[in-house]
Amino acid sequence: MEGGRKEMGSEDIKRESRQRLREEAERLVRTGQAGTGETGHLLHELSVHQIELEMQNEELRRTQQELDASRERYRELFELAPVGYLVIENGLVREANLTAAELLRLPRGELVERSLSRFIIPAYQDPYYLGLKRLFDRGQPQTLELELKRADGTLFWARLELTPVQGSPSCRIILSDISEQRLAEEQKRIAAVAFDARDGMLVTDAKGVILRVNGAFTQVTGYSPEEAVGKTPALLHSGRHDAGFYRAMWEAIRREDHWEGQVWNRRKDGEIYLEWLAISAVRDPQGTITHYVGHFSDISEPRLAERKLHELAYYDPLTGLPNRRLLLDRLQQAAAASERNDQYGALLLLDLDRFKNLNDSLGHPAGDRLLAGTAQRLTASLRQSDTAARLGGDEFVVLLEDLGPEEIAAATAAESIAEKLQAALEPPFQLDDGNHHLSASIGITLFCSRGQVVETLLQQAELALYQAKKDGSSNIRFFCASMQEVIDARTALEEGLRHALAKDELRLFYQPQVDYNGRPTGAEALLRWLPAGKPMVSPALFIPAAEESGLILPIGRWVLETACRQLALWGRDPATRDLQLAVNISAIQFHQPGFIDQVRAALDSSGADPSRLKLELTESLLVRELSNVIFTMRELKSIGVGFSLDDFGTGYSSLAYLKRLPLDQLKIDQSFVHGIPADPDDCAIAAAIIALGHSLRLDVIAEGVETEAQRDFLAGEGCTSYQGYLFARPGPPEAIESMAHAIPSPEEPAHDH
Ligand code: C2E
Ligand code: MG
Ligand code: MG
Repeated sequence: MEGGRKEMGSEDIKRESRQRLREEAERLVRTGQAGTGETGHLLHELSVHQIELEMQNEELRRTQQELDASRERYRELFELAPVGYLVIENGLVREANLTAAELLRLPRGELVERSLSRFIIPAYQDPYYLGLKRLFDRGQPQTLELELKRADGTLFWARLELTPVQGSPSCRIILSDISEQRLAEEQKRIAAVAFDARDGMLVTDAKGVILRVNGAFTQVTGYSPEEAVGKTPALLHSGRHDAGFYRAMWEAIRREDHWEGQVWNRRKDGEIYLEWLAISAVRDPQGTITHYVGHFSDISEPRLAERKLHELAYYDPLTGLPNRRLLLDRLQQAAAASERNDQYGALLLLDLDRFKNLNDSLGHPAGDRLLAGTAQRLTASLRQSDTAARLGGDEFVVLLEDLGPEEIAAATAAESIAEKLQAALEPPFQLDDGNHHLSASIGITLFCSRGQVVETLLQQAELALYQAKKDGSSNIRFFCASMQEVIDARTALEEGLRHALAKDELRLFYQPQVDYNGRPTGAEALLRWLPAGKPMVSPALFIPAAEESGLILPIGRWVLETACRQLALWGRDPATRDLQLAVNISAIQFHQPGFIDQVRAALDSSGADPSRLKLELTESLLVRELSNVIFTMRELKSIGVGFSLDDFGTGYSSLAYLKRLPLDQLKIDQSFVHGIPADPDDCAIAAAIIALGHSLRLDVIAEGVETEAQRDFLAGEGCTSYQGYLFARPGPPEAIESMAHAIPSPEEPAHDH
């Protein structure tokens, strides 16, 4: 026992004495004996202190318990929150709450350590990575709205709120399902498809199942919303149309997003009636059909049917303007009248500039409203006796009569009216999402007495319009005979080009791309057309024609295949195997479906090294579907293909897209090189492009280098690659081969054995 005591540590002794002291003090306090004397006072103090301590301990325990409980509550809050929480590190899920696992339909254990990107559908991979990059580059929270694919394959719209974790490669993500919200937005889009409340209306999903009907629907058909929703419109079939009728109808809807016509349907009470039905497809911003909206009116009454038919036959339903048929009719009368009265008349063909882009980016309902607005403004700025008509698309026609007997005066009058029409379109159009500006190009042709055929007049106006568009936007051009010649020549060119491939009249020339010392590092493939018995045609002439006629697709494929074969040949010779070959790709070619496979096939079948192939793109390619462009580029880059941006500086160069594109090279357009070193503007632009290229870590090449002064200026600014007549003109492949052979390669000593 003794020994045991000895071994007590000083802490234990303190505890023991404290315990004793406490008991003593408590007793004294209880019995009131501690009231006097020093010891008593001290003891009192001590005991009070002791009791306070005790209470504090108790409080601590309680707090701890509360904390535990609240932690449990928070755990629950965290796990079962209405939103998913994720912690991502280096792209992999490190932590996830149950909601996140539930949202992605995967047990939490399997979710952890998986890459989040595998839940993101391909179309949204780019925005996701871009978001991550921004998050880490700027250290700022990012919010993304993406479509995700759950582990069970179903899709949903998600909002990802990303917050960086300071000083680490991880971030926190709040994941919420916003499908409902998107649905509400969709509803708004559906509502935007104009509909007349007096007409019966029904909305179906993409499969044709009825989602909504309006009051007029019930009035006409006799079916209540409860009876109709969930069924398909087959509910109303009268049996008077065969399957072919409905098939043709759906084909038209798929093709044009719209169909309208007469349909015999059956009411709930069995009565068969005739309705005028218009069906429109509603698409989401990605272009997928999400709904169909049908409106119809009962036209059993023949007078109504007749009126509808007349309207459809002679008026454009969207704008209410006369259609082509009515216009030709009026034009016929106007031409006859002008002959009788010896008065000039004019036909103005008006086309909205870049309307297609607007329509694609804003969506068709918005595009329709712009067209209807245009029609209103045109009519408002014309005299009562003039006719405005819509030919279709964004083409309008204005027919002016009684412009007087003098040709010049009539032309002047027509021009000033054309200007007035353009001015009428100038104020911005207000749509839900903001203001939009429209402008129009106008082609004009005059007519008087010479008994012209109306179709010819329309053709002449078309040629004039074509010229107006070619010269830029917001132009006005008159038809004249020389225009006809240009068009004829173009037709002949196209005709010849159509057979160029089959007749083996195309060749690829190669122009070296060199370093400062003139050593070839590669070449650009340039297309040549040698029509039999005729002089060579410049690609500057025939490429635009090939693009317009669509011939660029087979021609472009031939270029790619030929270039790859050449690359494969060069690959076999040590002197040429390091050469890069640049191939020009036209925007139409790049955007065609299957382009990626085409490039792959050209590489595979020739055996060329993909990393030696460089595609030259122009900025015109970037005006639409940038994310698709990036996708295609990434795919090709992943097999080693490089990219150069041709004619840089001449298009709508924007830093914003430049940063997003996986480019390797910028190519300074020759128009800037031309003015070096005399023109200070050209010098400044070239220098700026080089600096820009460097800051984006892109290689910069200058084309059209013709003098040493140009090369030296460019080199001084940091440009390292050149192409131009100073080094070599485009020529057959042998020319480059001999250039390459003239240089001793570092691996292979000149003294050959
Ligand atoms: P590009 O891609 O900008 O090609 C450069 C043009 O500059 C070529 O004209 C070339 O011969 C010319 N050039 C090169 N060095 C000099 C120089 O020092 N001074 C001057 N003044 N010109 C020089 P080319 O061969 O007439 O081709 C014209 C355009 O046709 C090309 O412009 C390209 O846009 C297009 N093109 C040529 N081949 C193809 C092709 O296979 N596919 C497509 N889509 N377009 C092609
Ligand atoms: Mg080029
Ligand atoms: Mg160029």
